[in-house]
Amino acid sequence: MTRQSLGPFALLLALFPLACGGSAPAPATRSAATPAAEAPLPAIDGNAVLQHIKVLASDEYQGRFPGTKGEDLSVAYIQQQFQDLGLAPGNTDGTYIQHVPLVGITPDPSASLVFRKGSHVDRLKFKDDFVASTRRVKPTVSLDNSSLVFVGYGVQAPEYHWDDYKGMDVKGKTLVMLVGDPPVPDPNDPAKLDPKMFGGPAMTYYGRWTYKYEIGAKLGAAGVIIVHETGPAGYPFSVLQSSTGEAFTLETPDGNMNRAAIESWITRDQAVKLFKMAGKDFDALKAAAVKPDFKPVPLGVTASITLHNTIRRIQSRNVIAKLEGSDPALKDEYVIYTAHWDHLGIGPAVNGDDIYNGAVDNASGVAGLIELARAFKQLPTPPKRSILFMAVTAEEQGLLGSEYYATHPIYPLAKTLADINMDAMNVWGKTKDLTIVGLGNSQLDDYARRAAAAQGRVLRPDPTPEKGFYYRSDHFNFAKVGVPALDPDSGVDYVGKPDGYGTKVHDDYIAHDYHQPSDQVKPDWDMSGEAQDLELLMRVGYDVAQASSYPQWTPGTEFAAIRAAQLKAAGISR
Ligand SMILES: [Zn+2]
Repeated sequence: MTRQSLGPFALLLALFPLACGGSAPAPATRSAATPAAEAPLPAIDGNAVLQHIKVLASDEYQGRFPGTKGEDLSVAYIQQQFQDLGLAPGNTDGTYIQHVPLVGITPDPSASLVFRKGSHVDRLKFKDDFVASTRRVKPTVSLDNSSLVFVGYGVQAPEYHWDDYKGMDVKGKTLVMLVGDPPVPDPNDPAKLDPKMFGGPAMTYYGRWTYKYEIGAKLGAAGVIIVHETGPAGYPFSVLQSSTGEAFTLETPDGNMNRAAIESWITRDQAVKLFKMAGKDFDALKAAAVKPDFKPVPLGVTASITLHNTIRRIQSRNVIAKLEGSDPALKDEYVIYTAHWDHLGIGPAVNGDDIYNGAVDNASGVAGLIELARAFKQLPTPPKRSILFMAVTAEEQGLLGSEYYATHPIYPLAKTLADINMDAMNVWGKTKDLTIVGLGNSQLDDYARRAAAAQGRVLRPDPTPEKGFYYRSDHFNFAKVGVPALDPDSGVDYVGKPDGYGTKVHDDYIAHDYHQPSDQVKPDWDMSGEAQDLELLMRVGYDVAQASSYPQWTPGTEFAAIRAAQLKAAGISR
């Protein structure tokens, strides 16, 4: 899971049964037709999963940071496992490797951000008052008295008839934006959010900080400043303060010049001061920003900053293996399983331990990927379509390995039926349920619901959709390019455990181990839970690979239009 997320386990705080007791809609559509009597699939050995985790999360692997010895060991281990299983190289160049060029940019923390209005000057301190970085691969980037414009939530969402820019030309300006998506009140019940606008309480991609920087860049802004507020952001400013070091990014041929020069956050307090300097009231303008008739507000204040950057290029790697499909007519169509192999490497010591082993996050997912591959390889006949097993890099750096594959696909995306992502698996025993983040997004849910039912289990939705977890792991990069993507997560209703057990073990993990050196293999782990989840996910991938038609996005979801155009362009209508 990328930084700045409390992780899906917080998902588990409040759940309501969605599909138990036969209320789940049967897979109505043709594409999710129930295949003939389902042949049982091989069982998955939880202990074999654990052995991989023990290796990948060992101190020897140094927390698996991209571009380090930890990467070399991880990539070699995963590749060797795939080779030992007899899986084919996943890259069409005959290797198991897709090289992923990354560039690391470290901003000089001595920079200050200066707001100026006439003779009134306000100098903000790096880390205390603001954080800033750039994706431009330049030793120096700057804003020089760039005019500040408050653009509310900074959203352009034609499907909601929403445009915070109202045609204003913001080229070269610096945009001040609110985090989150516009919390439009329900006209029938103003105490609630309008379910028809921006997903109501759920966060849409418009609410993600990544969207804010992307739209600013798209409109030619010189800088983007997001106002940090703990509630809407979902994490305290300290999370931003702790990630002001080296940040990796992918690099375009022009060195990411298509990005805004400066991407930054300021604290709420500094925003209130800034608006005061402009003769405005922050809270009043924030209230105006939830209305569709909001117009951008020039603040009459300029921003200046010079960032000196240290730049480092590394070649990282995605590791890919393939099980070729058995049906000549369908073997050039694909189902992908992903799991990121990277983690945080060696960092600030905690209780004398500076290796961030990443046992749950995400050695558990990579171990699951390898044992899934073993189970598929044990099938008497491979599925009709081909299966790709993809261990991606640099997820913790911003989902970069999966972004690189999605923008440099080895196999046609139009012929890629699904991505099933595994990030931080359940190591605490069997559950009666499984959480699907983004439940309702696509027909992959129908496959998952049926596979769960075959195990006597039910699906549950993400209990904290306002946190936007669907946008925080590798499946999202597949969704962004139209491929239906499933983001399964651990259930909470543990077999043979008292109520609340699930929430407790997950909260403990988040509170004590998530992104900490202590995320290590624990003696009380029970791998039957991960094995159970992997068997469910195998069934999903297998059934999609056998199906007579493509799983579709739910009409109206943010990815459906991309897919429809993609399939049409490829002449695919199944
Ligand atoms: Zn992760």
